[in-house]
Amino acid sequence: MEDCLFCKIAAGEIPSNKLFEDDKLLAFYDIDPQAPVHFLVIPKQHIASAAALTEDDAALLGHIYAVIAQLCKKLGVDESGYRVVTNVGADGGQSVKHLHFHVLAKRSLAWPPG
Ligand code: C5P
Repeated sequence: MEDCLFCKIAAGEIPSNKLFEDDKLLAFYDIDPQAPVHFLVIPKQHIASAAALTEDDAALLGHIYAVIAQLCKKLGVDESGYRVVTNVGADGGQSVKHLHFHVLAKRSLAWPPG
């Protein structure tokens, strides 16, 4: 999608600190990390947010969560734990309008979130 920052990152038009990539998704480190480990997982196809997901996206979502589990294992945070979060809309704190999953680890994360 034109003028979408994460579409441009997914296409390699804007650089990112890449962690993993395949034909469906890209994982890269967040430029403003909120935990010692903080990376984002984005689908390559443009989806505005979790609010736009349908049953047709079930396989994509399963793949995203499977890759997150693999990456967390590779990074050695699977046993200590981590948080996966997707912000939706203004009150959810979403600033980039392309579906993305934050993965945060290596510190104790408070609940409820701020
Ligand atoms: O959930 P939200 O939309 O606020 O998250 C967007 C995230 O994208 C932020 O954590 C921000 O630091 C990150 N970002 C990035 N690289 C960019 C622009 C934003 O990692 N070039």
